[in-house]
Amino acid sequence: ASRGSISETSIITQLFEGQLSYQVMCLECKTVTEKPERFTILSLPVPSKSACSLEDCLKCFFQQDTLTWNNQIHCSLCGKKQDAVVKAAITKAPQIIILHLKRFEWQDKHKRKLSTAIRYPLSNLDLSPYMAQWSHESDHRDVEYNLSAVVNHSGFLDDGHYTALCKHSITKNWYSFDDDHVTKIPNSSVQTDTAYLLFY
Ligand SMILES: [Zn+2]
Repeated sequence: ASRGSISETSIITQLFEGQLSYQVMCLECKTVTEKPERFTILSLPVPSKSACSLEDCLKCFFQQDTLTWNNQIHCSLCGKKQDAVVKAAITKAPQIIILHLKRFEWQDKHKRKLSTAIRYPLSNLDLSPYMAQWSHESDHRDVEYNLSAVVNHSGFLDDGHYTALCKHSITKNWYSFDDDHVTKIPNSSVQTDTAYLLFY
């Protein structure tokens, strides 16, 4: 009867929508509140300028953060703004997870592209360390993911070229899509330094 029920039946939400929970603890009274949030893409920070692994990016996203100064939260028990710690966890894992690699850093007021070499697995990406311990057991069924597509971005932040690598669901062969050029590629070419979106 609402917009919500329409979106729940769309193919996009069925395939890509998951849920995160942010656990926020007031550092004064230690009250913990949970804030659920739906997602279709996880935007992961890239913690290195030279090289790192997807695991490093995931750890960085899910690590506990301390909120102080301008980032303080309003604690309803204390009745005012307080320092807090916040930590995210996955409460519902999507069927296909889209990971966005935030390949940029701020230099003064300018965004600069990071060409970090990020290693990512072609199979068995395990998200169980990032699942909430209190989430339903049924949601733990299958949090091992296999890579099915990569979107590459080459060039500068405001002017570049996109290509895609996709795995054929039946033959399991990988193909490169570059405008109208489609070529079969070996598995070893699926790891690129221009990867920008990963579909697992
Ligand atoms: Zn408090």
